[in-house]
Amino acid sequence: MNNWKQDIEPFLNDISKPQRYLGGELNEIVKDWTAVSCRFLFAFPDVYEVGMSHLGLQILYEAVNQTPELLMERTFAPWTDMEALLRRESIPLFGLESGREAADYDCIGFTLQHEMSYTNILNMLSLGNIPLWAAERGDEDILVIAGGPCASNPEPLAPFLDAVILGEGEVLLPRLLQTIGNHKACRGGKMDRKTLLAELAGLGGVYVPSFYEPVYDAAGELTAIMPLEMPGMERKAPAMIKKARLKDLDSACFPTAPLVPYIEVVHDRMMLEILRGCTRGCRFCQAGMIYRPVRERSCETLLRQADALKKHTGHNEISLTSLSSSDHTCIKELVHNLMENFEGEQISVSLPSLRANHFSVELANEIQKVRKTGFTFAPEAGTQRLRDVINKGVTEEALLQTIEHAVQAGWSQVKLYFMVGLPTETMEDVDGIAALCERVVRRGTQVMKEKGRFGALKVTASVSNFVPKAHTPFQWSGQDTQEVFKAKHAYLRQRIRDRRISYHYHDPFTSMLEAVFARGDRRLAVVIAKATEKGCRFDSWTEQFKGEAWKTAFEESGLDMQALASKTFHLTAILPWSHLDYGIDPDFLKREQALAFKETITPDCRYHGCSRCGICGPEGGLVLFGKAEDL
Ligand code: SF4
Repeated sequence: MNNWKQDIEPFLNDISKPQRYLGGELNEIVKDWTAVSCRFLFAFPDVYEVGMSHLGLQILYEAVNQTPELLMERTFAPWTDMEALLRRESIPLFGLESGREAADYDCIGFTLQHEMSYTNILNMLSLGNIPLWAAERGDEDILVIAGGPCASNPEPLAPFLDAVILGEGEVLLPRLLQTIGNHKACRGGKMDRKTLLAELAGLGGVYVPSFYEPVYDAAGELTAIMPLEMPGMERKAPAMIKKARLKDLDSACFPTAPLVPYIEVVHDRMMLEILRGCTRGCRFCQAGMIYRPVRERSCETLLRQADALKKHTGHNEISLTSLSSSDHTCIKELVHNLMENFEGEQISVSLPSLRANHFSVELANEIQKVRKTGFTFAPEAGTQRLRDVINKGVTEEALLQTIEHAVQAGWSQVKLYFMVGLPTETMEDVDGIAALCERVVRRGTQVMKEKGRFGALKVTASVSNFVPKAHTPFQWSGQDTQEVFKAKHAYLRQRIRDRRISYHYHDPFTSMLEAVFARGDRRLAVVIAKATEKGCRFDSWTEQFKGEAWKTAFEESGLDMQALASKTFHLTAILPWSHLDYGIDPDFLKREQALAFKETITPDCRYHGCSRCGICGPEGGLVLFGKAEDL
């Protein structure tokens, strides 16, 4: 077996950031290929610097490699210069640890973090000499699997995938790989692909797309997703596939000796996952639904893990990650203890995902005693009416008071995240974004003056476009058209005249593509294949984005991307993801949609009682520290 890393050595001067492709980082695990039963290649469909900042990669690396009979190596999307080199020199995509080519592994697994990475996945399969379409792969070929948030509707990619992991990978991935290893061991190292896929489908939480057939009516509407007979099983595939779920986060494996890159990556710091899930219930937020229920790690465990991370990495920053960090039951105690433990060691603590309240300012003040970097909040909408529609439990007065506290504590820059195109939005709501920013500037600047500080509060308004996502109360809602988005951004650009406010917005065209794929079905696979053929890569990188190629790919496939993005589904429609059960009761989503349209909020179940989303079972009632078995 060739070590392809050696083959790129003569060309290292010709490519940017060669360290992206060499591995050998601190805490890398290199296993003996002959001593394991299943070899897994984790494929991140973006560059090394993005992938190495992803906590999920580090968790899976630990979960798989701590199992003696399994091996996990890594590969990342080669940047365009490296792709050209690989193609010119006929060097295949390879794993960073061993340098083996992708096709040598038993299984390659892509993480689906966002829809704009899909062309990179096909490009990586092509560079790995792996047949693109699942139906074209035979018993000799590697298995292609996927997981991650976009696996909650993997249908646009389904024809390329042999299996999809639903839910939390650290629970299921080692089991899936062990099943592959056992299957091959029983057959002298060979695979009976169809039988193996049926075995995987029996694991629970594993979706095998080829065992399901979408049925459409004459108008092209999806009417059913039919489970098919599974080879050798004498029964059909399960009608619903339930996500895998980790019950007890506190005792779950966590990478306390993570890989430490030798080049600068996006998040160059220790990452400590303090809690998973979120009960706030923002109606547009997919993560808030699919990662339910909320589970925490105890303060004791977290302090122990932080200590180990410090010993094993040498980083000078630790980030307490979660969807809503200030919601952790013991966050104050945790931050205080961490600050005390790291005193004199030049290690800073960072807290992303803070809510707009006084408590968050106190926390941030504790961790940024001297250097006050910008404060970030996400009101998401400019008016109270629309914030109630989306269930963003923050009032304008609470936001302004938070800003006051932040300015009093020494901050002079605030970043505010908003969205346009949310369901029921009017131009009054759009105008509300500008008006709210102005009030924030005025209130903040006033406090600065009172404190005898010079200058003014600076506000950055970052405005993205609403993208309807599967498994959310807004999954049925269509997206604004390009023209409407453009008009709203143009209005805000012209409306925001205050020099103390800077205005940034997202490109509506990429948001439209996201919407198409976020709620799309299998008919989109051909579009992704065509776009990849036409050179689309790194679609989330503005300088690489090829809008014209995407337009042509849709035209050639006979699909209207605007119509797909703006489509409003009927509440009774079969959705492409209707057979994928993320534990959230569809009736809860419908109730939430109805409440949204009535501008009525649903209070956070963590503090105000169960709202019957279904994830905690028929009785409801949140259990932060689970004790039951996984899955
Ligand atoms: S079932 Fe009830 S308590 Fe559990 S997450 Fe859902 S709303 Fe909250």
